[in-house]
Amino acid sequence: MIGLVNVAYLIAAILFILSLAGLSQQESAKRGNIFGIIGMAIALLATIFGGETGHIALVLSAMVIGGAIGIYLARKVQMTEMPELVAILHSFVGLVAVIVGWNSFIDSGEDLFLSDTMHAIHLTEISLGVFIGAVTFTGSIVAFGKLRGIFSTKPLMLRGKHYLNGAAILVSLLLLWVFVASEKAGIQGTALFIMMCIAFAFGWHLVASIGGADMPVVISMLNSYSGWAAAASGFILGNDLLIITGALVGSSGAILSYIMCKAMNRSFISVIAGGFGTDGSSAASGEEIGEYIEISAESAAEMLKDASSVIIVPGYGMAVAQAQYPIYDLTQKLQARNCKVRFAIHPVAGRLPGHMNVLLAEAKVPYDIVLEMDEINDDFSETDVVLVIGANDTVNPSAETDPNSPIAGMPVLKVWNAKNVIVFKRSMNAGYAGVQNPLFFNDNSRMLFGDAKDSVDAINRGF
Ligand code: NDP
Repeated sequence: MIGLVNVAYLIAAILFILSLAGLSQQESAKRGNIFGIIGMAIALLATIFGGETGHIALVLSAMVIGGAIGIYLARKVQMTEMPELVAILHSFVGLVAVIVGWNSFIDSGEDLFLSDTMHAIHLTEISLGVFIGAVTFTGSIVAFGKLRGIFSTKPLMLRGKHYLNGAAILVSLLLLWVFVASEKAGIQGTALFIMMCIAFAFGWHLVASIGGADMPVVISMLNSYSGWAAAASGFILGNDLLIITGALVGSSGAILSYIMCKAMNRSFISVIAGGFGTDGSSAASGEEIGEYIEISAESAAEMLKDASSVIIVPGYGMAVAQAQYPIYDLTQKLQARNCKVRFAIHPVAGRLPGHMNVLLAEAKVPYDIVLEMDEINDDFSETDVVLVIGANDTVNPSAETDPNSPIAGMPVLKVWNAKNVIVFKRSMNAGYAGVQNPLFFNDNSRMLFGDAKDSVDAINRGF
């Protein structure tokens, strides 16, 4: 039976790798998902019925209840709420790692047969699992709160925060040593408990001190932590597949964090340490810094009829308005008039890596007219009209000009170089980073106020 379980685990691990490979391209993403689902089904069946799992009825009941809640939530969740859902799911993985660690410490029956070295390694696994899990748990809850708007997106600036973080790590290492070296269960339990509390506070502080604009890195970083927490649980439980799966999630999350850092021109270490933040001298949320010019949907339609090249820049507002469908209608209308239409995607547009690509794929926009920032950023100067659909921070020129801005240094789409820019939004409110956008006050910018879907519908009626 064990041989069969190992073969099943091997097949599941290969399917997970194929799944990740599939998810790296839009065209193969669906196939990647299917591989992942089959792999997970095989992994679950092999684990539950492999002979080592007791209380199967209890496990199956928990799965039915958990599965029902999962299906209900997945059906109910709006696309704009996906990042929050992902953050809260990461917190579950963290909490599970904490519980698995404690369970293994309390129920240490099999440890009696371990050599001293193996026993020390096992205790180290437990403490690392509890530490990483606790950091992931509270960090993900703060990320959830920031994305949902329950907590402020402004960075928490505690005095001496780097010292606090350093002290938390040092004390935790000391407690790890006490936990492994001590032979008294009471002392071990106390050390593990204090370490867990420090890790809870550390995770909370780590994410709370990161500013809104750096949240994309935090999300991918927590994704990575949740993978390492799962891998730690795998070591504690002696489950090879959990180790492989956790390592896959951990390393792919780390690679994604690196990509996001590069996209935002941030150093990974500075973001983790919460090193960025505004000193408050940038134009604050909603503050008007000049005169802006409004345009009606009818005039926008006329402008577009005269255009021979158009670039559409989607942002979070497109997701809120669900404007991708009428935008694709507009694209087809423009193409029918021999206008060259392309989409420009900023790597952190929206609230989730790949958010805009998913929405455009949903509306059946062909992949070959959807270009990444680096592929299209030099083309704005030869473009007649740019439609900025609910994007703000990702088209904010102050990232290049204002060193005090929370988005300072982040590469942005240089839409202002186009002949005309039409900005679709509902008000003069700021974007996610909470700073005003000088683009809106440029001579070649026009503001089209209203829900983006309604505005694009109105333009479509003008054709
Ligand atoms: P922003 O979040 O900067 O701005 C969105 C804009 O959309 C707002 O200015 C808002 O203005 C407008 N808007 C909202 N609803 C509507 C609607 N119904 N119709 C029309 N407009 C609407 O968007 P970007 O995509 O440019 O930037 C993403 C930001 O999110 C970056 O700061 C990024 O760092 C951050 N982030 C990204 C993550 C990722 O992984 N991609 C994760 C977490 C954060 P108004 O209210 O006036 O309508």
